[in-house]
Amino acid sequence: MLATLRSIAESVSRQANLDSALVCFVQMVKDAMKTQCCSIYFADYSQDNFVLMATEGLNPDAVGKFRIGFTEGLVGLVAQREEPINIAFAKSHPRFKLSPEVNEEGYNAFLSVPVVHQKKVLGVIVVQQKMARVFSQDEESFLITLSAQLASQLAHAEIKEILRQDESSHQTSVLKGVSSAPGIGIGQAFVVLPKLDFKSIELLKDSDVTEQRRLFTQAVAATRKEFNTLSMTLSDSIPHEALAVFDVYQQLLDAKSLGHNVEMQLQEGWCAKSALKIVIERLISQFNAMQDPYIKERAVDVKDIGLRVLHHLVNTEHAVKNYPPNTILIANTLTPAMLAEVPKGHLTGVVSVNGSANSHASILTRAMGIPAIWGIEDLPLLQFNGKPMILDAFAGRLYISPSQMLMDEYTELQHQDNLLNNRFLAEQDSESITLDGEHVSLLLNAGLELNTEQSSAHICDGVGLYRTEAWFMQKGQFPSQAEQENWYREVLTSYHPNPVVMRTLDIGGDKVLDYFNITEENPFLGWRGIRISLDHPELFLDQLKAMLKANIGLGNLKIMLPMISGTEEVDESLALFEQAYFELSEKYPEQTIERPDIGIMLEVPSSVFMLPEWSKKVDFCSVGSNDLTQYLLAVDRANARVAELFNPYHPGVLRVLNKVAHECEQYELPFSLCGELGGDPEGAILLIAMGYRRLSMNLSSLNKVKWVLRRLNVSDMEQLLSECLAQSTAKQVLRLTRSFMLEHKLGDLFYTPK
Ligand code: PEP
Ligand code: MG
Repeated sequence: MLATLRSIAESVSRQANLDSALVCFVQMVKDAMKTQCCSIYFADYSQDNFVLMATEGLNPDAVGKFRIGFTEGLVGLVAQREEPINIAFAKSHPRFKLSPEVNEEGYNAFLSVPVVHQKKVLGVIVVQQKMARVFSQDEESFLITLSAQLASQLAHAEIKEILRQDESSHQTSVLKGVSSAPGIGIGQAFVVLPKLDFKSIELLKDSDVTEQRRLFTQAVAATRKEFNTLSMTLSDSIPHEALAVFDVYQQLLDAKSLGHNVEMQLQEGWCAKSALKIVIERLISQFNAMQDPYIKERAVDVKDIGLRVLHHLVNTEHAVKNYPPNTILIANTLTPAMLAEVPKGHLTGVVSVNGSANSHASILTRAMGIPAIWGIEDLPLLQFNGKPMILDAFAGRLYISPSQMLMDEYTELQHQDNLLNNRFLAEQDSESITLDGEHVSLLLNAGLELNTEQSSAHICDGVGLYRTEAWFMQKGQFPSQAEQENWYREVLTSYHPNPVVMRTLDIGGDKVLDYFNITEENPFLGWRGIRISLDHPELFLDQLKAMLKANIGLGNLKIMLPMISGTEEVDESLALFEQAYFELSEKYPEQTIERPDIGIMLEVPSSVFMLPEWSKKVDFCSVGSNDLTQYLLAVDRANARVAELFNPYHPGVLRVLNKVAHECEQYELPFSLCGELGGDPEGAILLIAMGYRRLSMNLSSLNKVKWVLRRLNVSDMEQLLSECLAQSTAKQVLRLTRSFMLEHKLGDLFYTPK
């Protein structure tokens, strides 16, 4: 069954368009289930009905024409209930509706399952048979599994179709994602493919066979050259027999094997990449189907060769292309390195298919002030390349090939947005004080973009979170103590005399070092932050010593420990700090080594309940609301699928944040917040009302938050907070905060263009 499932899914994905994918689907399902009829209906939400999209067994002329209402017949019932229906005599069911135009009179047995993608019913699959019988449990599970597997494939096929139509009809298409950094980007798509995969290759036709053949031949030649170099480099270090594998590879590249098959596909009109994809995928499934384990293994070689040729094919295309001056960067999963590669001033927007707005790469785009959206449909990306686009990161929308009218509209909106930012900028040097005279320290979350951050030192009250790991991530190896010391001194000096809270290494989760391999099933619940530092005291001591030495003569350092979950971690960290301090004082008796304040991050729920004890041990704490939200709500912050559930306005999260403020006041422990919530004007208002007077945020949020709080009274914020804390959903909370902002004439901030 598993092999059949896989083979159906693979065959469907290989089809060039939605119609042929559906035809292939119904045919294969009918054959696999040995029935007489299989049909698929798609939901048309504009007309509230289902349309027959493909059938094997019903009247073929009804395809594309026959429609049945959402609440009609057995098809409607399956969709309404969102569960399978499996009956021996369809006609005897009270919801059966005879539809003579499809010719289904002869069928009795009826098995149907809904196709659901992201809570939405996309369609319904129906299998019918003349013989009256109930389908077996196995058959039912088979269809359910198939429907689940194909749901996203069909959803993508639908979007792919929209994109294809846009190509031929010059219509604008729109895709939805989650906004992670607000703003509007108008530009041209540039797709980055970090790890090339045949899955990301869209099947496309190209009538210029000669040119496609030339591209393919060129890529094969480059691959051969690569193999020659590889085999020469390895000839000294591996046995001669092992080098024979390169001969086999070279043979596979020969015109007689790969070349011949690809040529046939080129003749059929496929472009070089598509032809290669078809041939390699077919070869892989042929090898996989073999019994002999040795031959089966060859599938890996075929894939490897195929990917190398593909790499050269894509590179020749990309080599001539530079980043356009208004690049909208599109990636499967965006990484900080991809952002860094775009020449300065060329980046207009960012789209990441995977990941979510709370991931660290996303925080980086926010810090850079580049509009970004996350979690759009998982599509073969290359088809976007070079297309004109509008990225509306207020509404989380990506318009592909926009019309001139839309372009004009968004150019005007972008202009309005710039005007608003200029209003924030005009007050950047003013004090951050509320109307009723409360000063709120606004600090910077730094470590991501050194140059811009440092030049903005004068507009903030210091650094509330310096993410040291960001620098570690850019290096090819662990930096030495001396290197770290220089680096930290530069940072401390830039903000002096304002304080800089340096956080010790916080890797793990979605922050990986290329040179320190951590592979885990649940990285966010695994080896992260302080856990790694305590398991590697040599690294931790090095970092602490570098910080202490960098602080000599400056005195504006504070040290913060990430991901603390238990008292042992506090005690062990403090003991290692004592050791670092003692060793340095001994080594440099002539120097005065200052004792900086040591604080902890409140990110793990358990930490919130330990404040009575920990307030006696540490000098301050700072709430990491990103992780605290993630762990309180059990929502992986980097997972696009559950991104909608990640909501710091959840009353449960707000009540915890309120509790922290009250307890810190009670135990006289200085406290602040450095998660993204503090940089959101509505979040900042609620936090100030709770008693937070130190908020640390990205540079791009700082002026905005300052501008907002200068226009409000704390007493009004407190009134709003007490209402919000009494709500039971995040939606209700946000409704209240939104109307509060409108009431206080701050509606311009929510100027959402579309
Ligand atoms: C947080 O978790 O809120 C935080 C500030 O740390 P990071 O986002 O770097 O995990
Ligand atoms: Mg964190």
